[in-house]
Amino acid sequence: MVLVLLAGCRTVAPVPVGLPKQHALENEHLLVRSDLKLPKDHPVLRDLDSLRDQIADELNLPLQKQPVTVYLFSDEVRYAQYLQARYPLLPPRRAYFVGTSKELAVYTFWGERIQEDLRHEYTHGVLHASLTDVPLWLDEGLAEYFEVTSQPTGMNRDYAMRLASNLSQGWKPDLDRLESLETVDDMQKADYQEAWAWVHFMLHHSEESRGVLISYLHDLRTNAKPGSLATRLRTAIPSANSRFIAHAASLTSGIQQASSFSN
Ligand SMILES: [Zn+2]
Repeated sequence: MVLVLLAGCRTVAPVPVGLPKQHALENEHLLVRSDLKLPKDHPVLRDLDSLRDQIADELNLPLQKQPVTVYLFSDEVRYAQYLQARYPLLPPRRAYFVGTSKELAVYTFWGERIQEDLRHEYTHGVLHASLTDVPLWLDEGLAEYFEVTSQPTGMNRDYAMRLASNLSQGWKPDLDRLESLETVDDMQKADYQEAWAWVHFMLHHSEESRGVLISYLHDLRTNAKPGSLATRLRTAIPSANSRFIAHAASLTSGIQQASSFSN
């Protein structure tokens, strides 16, 4: 989940629940302020370092020095109380990224899905450190893609299965509609799923589709409003919609094959 705010644009009321500050860890790219003590080489933190390289490689992004600060609460109750007090209008979610001109911050708690949640939010941080802005749907689609820890890269099996089922029931993709979504409240679960699928399609379908995404991200380095990605995609690949459908429908055969090999 992502929220980009401009620092200093409003007065912030005092918050009864404080930020985690008992323990601190830092390296060049990451600051962790946490309620609980973590070893510096904890696998979850090491994973974020390699994720940073993976994002830069796959998206052809220059790595930026600006670190991401992770505020890691010990439990969900404390986290939720803090978020509710500090950002009362946000819908409840397990984790948030808040980018301001002063800080790229991730707020979350130590729970069962901590690795996936941190990967998701940290991806937002890396993107916002490198780009002038990121359209909401693309920000979420990339974060959903890079949060996946299993192989093959970026394959969210639940999404793939649901997409196949939705397609068989007549669902139609609509990248123009996704591009029109502007706030966190607008993004529903199905929108995250579709955003993930468009990112997966562009990165895996063909050199052309990948090229459209990479060049769009390249433009976002210097231009916060580079226009519609859907339009660029249709220009490069006129049959993009039907190819997307074929790509999305083909993902489940890969999953079934992979699971029959692993049994
Ligand atoms: Zn997100």
